[in-house]
Amino acid sequence: MSEDRTVRAPDGTLVTAGMVLAPFTLDQSLSLNAWQVAGFFHPYTCGNDSGHGLLMATVGAGWQCPDCDYTQNYALAWSADWSWRDRQGAPC
Ligand SMILES: [Zn+2]
Repeated sequence: MSEDRTVRAPDGTLVTAGMVLAPFTLDQSLSLNAWQVAGFFHPYTCGNDSGHGLLMATVGAGWQCPDCDYTQNYALAWSADWSWRDRQGAPC
């Protein structure tokens, strides 16, 4: 897991501090998938078509779209460590 430093994702996206990179751990995946359905924050969505189903965090890989082959290998660190639960009521 890379955290608190700047890296470039394979798709060219500059991943800034406070991000975590895939492969996600089991605990990260559980936190991320809970985030997806919590409804307090904007969920992670498909980069090909925002009308696709919400991305699903997979253990040992990254985000996967349920409707196409889109994948994403990074997430906000605080969405992956359950700390977002303490920020309820402050949706972005
Ligand atoms: Zn998709």
